[in-house]
Amino acid sequence: MFIGNHLSCAKGYEIMGKEALALGDNTFAFFTRNPRGSAVKELDPTDAQKLCNLMDEHHFGKLVAHAPYTMNVCAEKDHIRKFSWNVLAEDLARMEYIPNNYYNFHPGSHVGQGAETAIPIIAQAINNALKSEYHTTVLLETMAGKGSEVGRTFEELRAILDLVDLPDKVGVCFDTCHVWDAGYDIVGDLDGVFAEFDRVIGLDRLKAVHFNDSMNGIGSRKDRHQKIGEGEIGLEALKAVATHPILVGKPFILETPNDDEGYKKEIAMIRSWQQA
Ligand code: FE
Ligand code: FE
Ligand code: ZN
Repeated sequence: MFIGNHLSCAKGYEIMGKEALALGDNTFAFFTRNPRGSAVKELDPTDAQKLCNLMDEHHFGKLVAHAPYTMNVCAEKDHIRKFSWNVLAEDLARMEYIPNNYYNFHPGSHVGQGAETAIPIIAQAINNALKSEYHTTVLLETMAGKGSEVGRTFEELRAILDLVDLPDKVGVCFDTCHVWDAGYDIVGDLDGVFAEFDRVIGLDRLKAVHFNDSMNGIGSRKDRHQKIGEGEIGLEALKAVATHPILVGKPFILETPNDDEGYKKEIAMIRSWQQA
């Protein structure tokens, strides 16, 4: 199984690989730039290549890079939208230095425009940034539905996917906290949720998992992550997710409120479930 957590790319790519190994990761996530800002360091191709070598040597699964939270490709304000389209295009170009990985982003917040208006804009932003010669698969993250977030329902994600020009290069990242907060009962009826995902989107589009417990109840739309087994989803249900045959071989990324020691423990615990 491939499991890891979020690392900071501030110190460079190869260092992330080494940090990942030290934690017991064999995949990881990183923000492509300051998650709350936009600053981006110049990319060092040699450093990127070193990470690729390290990943090969240690049989890593695909990485799940994460766009900054400031990116809202369907923003109503012109300058935010332009900035966000640029970030997406620039980030995907940079991903070519670490080819064959995933780039995950939050579809966006429609801020009053309505999801019907936002959905085609999100698809256009992807079509503008993603090139047929690229080696990255772009992932839309399932959202909790906080505020005016687009992508709370599988139907909204499907509507975006239907409008992309390169459907083979676009998939979905399944965030357990978000799906639960959005109202899908992964505790009481996990198979039913996967059946629904399959019916609406298609399970072949499910590429990666954000593995989190939730501080709040089903349908709360709050998006507050909790440590594995300490939230409202709970240990048994999360164990069922981590060992579900549908998700075998997909990268699992922890976004739980932990320090390094906490992540090490969670990673070891999840690995022990899978070997049981
Ligand atoms: Fe996210
Ligand atoms: Fe997430
Ligand atoms: Zn979240």
